[in-house]
Amino acid sequence: MAHKIAADKCAGCGACKDACPTEAINEGTPYTIDAEKCVDCGACAAQCPCEAISAE
Ligand code: SF4
Ligand code: SF4
Repeated sequence: MAHKIAADKCAGCGACKDACPTEAINEGTPYTIDAEKCVDCGACAAQCPCEAISAE
């Protein structure tokens, strides 16, 4: 299990990356989550202004 960023919703603000405790989120267009590092804490989703992040 890992959280996932919807490419069509991500605005590239970087709030999720700043919130992630395991550095699982990589900058890009869109930002992406490394499933190997994600511990499903939900911190990124709580910070996303676009509701682009969800649990798979
Ligand atoms: S759910 Fe937690 S560990 Fe996974 S990418 Fe988001 S902030 Fe990082
Ligand atoms: S917080 Fe949301 S909109 Fe901002 S970079 Fe992350 S996924 Fe994209």
